[in-house]
Amino acid sequence: MPYAITQSCCSDASCVSVCPVNCIHPTPQERAFGSTEMLYVDPRTCISCGACSDACPADAIHPIETLTGPLQQYAAINAAYFGEIPPPGDPAPNFHLWDQPEPPRPLPSTPIPLRVAIVGTGPAGMYAAEDLLLHTNAEVTLVDRLPSPGGLLRYGVAPDHPATRKVADRFARFHDHPRTRTVLGIEIGRDLTHEDLLAHHNAVIYAVGSATDRRLGIPGEDLPGSIPARRLVGWYNDHPEIDTVHLPAGRVVIAGTGNVALDIARILTTDPAALRNTEIAQRALSVLEKHQDREIVLLARRGPAEASYSLSELLELQHLAGVDLVVDDHDPRIRAALAEPTNAKAAALRDAALETIDWASTPKPGRRIVLRFYTTPSELTGHDRVRSVRTTDGLDLNTELFIRSVGYRGTPIPGLPFDEESGVIPNHSGRVTDRPGTYVVGWIKRGPTGGIGTNRTCAKQTINTLLTDATTGLLPPPPRSRSSFPRASFPRAPVPRRSIPRP
Ligand code: SF4
Repeated sequence: MPYAITQSCCSDASCVSVCPVNCIHPTPQERAFGSTEMLYVDPRTCISCGACSDACPADAIHPIETLTGPLQQYAAINAAYFGEIPPPGDPAPNFHLWDQPEPPRPLPSTPIPLRVAIVGTGPAGMYAAEDLLLHTNAEVTLVDRLPSPGGLLRYGVAPDHPATRKVADRFARFHDHPRTRTVLGIEIGRDLTHEDLLAHHNAVIYAVGSATDRRLGIPGEDLPGSIPARRLVGWYNDHPEIDTVHLPAGRVVIAGTGNVALDIARILTTDPAALRNTEIAQRALSVLEKHQDREIVLLARRGPAEASYSLSELLELQHLAGVDLVVDDHDPRIRAALAEPTNAKAAALRDAALETIDWASTPKPGRRIVLRFYTTPSELTGHDRVRSVRTTDGLDLNTELFIRSVGYRGTPIPGLPFDEESGVIPNHSGRVTDRPGTYVVGWIKRGPTGGIGTNRTCAKQTINTLLTDATTGLLPPPPRSRSSFPRASFPRAPVPRRSIPRP
């Protein structure tokens, strides 16, 4: 029986290089890599050796016959990817073609190791650290603004996705590596400058992600009760900088249907008893236990085939115990899209309950998630706080909590260039424009797209660029020693972890 890749696939392609028959696609050398929701095993050629399962950091790969419940669908999902590909030997161009082979990686010959500071300890920074520590003799200084390392892996992944969180185990050993130093609670631009880092290191890599949220630009957006998705996610993940969130009983409205929006909808409607054994913050669990009847309304600008969630996130909502998934049947385009689906996402909703909802009445008791396609919020109304969300098609949705989940945006770093339009630091293959010795990786390099594993190939490209610069003499030794960092540079003591009162 062949293997299949399932819901927790992180797409970092650790499995690809261990497969003896090259049946996991797309590989990092193929054009489709980074644009598919996950990787897939070709059941026609898999020899069931299990090597990929051992290599997967997210515990996502299993023999098809061992899949149970909703995971059984992944046998067909894996096979479907290869169903679109012409048989071997077909000369027609398709997305499965190999790209140019990678040139050999340059390695600096200097006996003195490079000293590299990496700012940010989320997946992008840690894939860069892993590459440097495993393949060069570089010394690495990890710097993080927060008092605990982990970034997005620690504070962004939903607590009921333990397999995805397991990717952090892959990085744990690099924090204890003999050539690593970790400096926490230090913010560049507040506690240290970019020049401070360069004075002690040959190179500095920024892996700071997208630190803020996109706005909708609608009236009432700043009313109490209107919050970005990042705040709610930080609340249930015990982020040290995020205070408590007022979660009302009844209806919550979310603008956006990306995976973060679906994560929030799932966490807010899952039976709290099922969350008790996860890493959810106790403060969030206590509130969820208090009010269990909840209706989450997700507003999607586009239709069922174009919504931005991944198929695996949608399938998870469909199998949520005790939660009704409803599609609001308010627009004839929805029925048409589900009757003749043009992709797997629309097809997956074919069996969902279509309902014409009377929004003026109080939400029904129980827990349910409503997908309302072709709807955009136009205004939030209320005096002291949000009381209602008005939409462009004239609907008024009563709620006391509105969550905007329409994407993230990078923020500038003092002393570095910044592209206001795209929200990234301008760079070429990871090298920051006009700033020798300075590099970027992850969302601050390429914008807020791609999941955790996408950062592995992104980091590899940046490290290749850095090593090319090292071999061509562009990274001279820094004037100050590594051992004097950070002591000599600290203007003040590291920031202690904030304590959050628990209910
Ligand atoms: Fe490749 Fe073996 Fe995994 Fe099949 S089980 S995908 S042959 S590594």
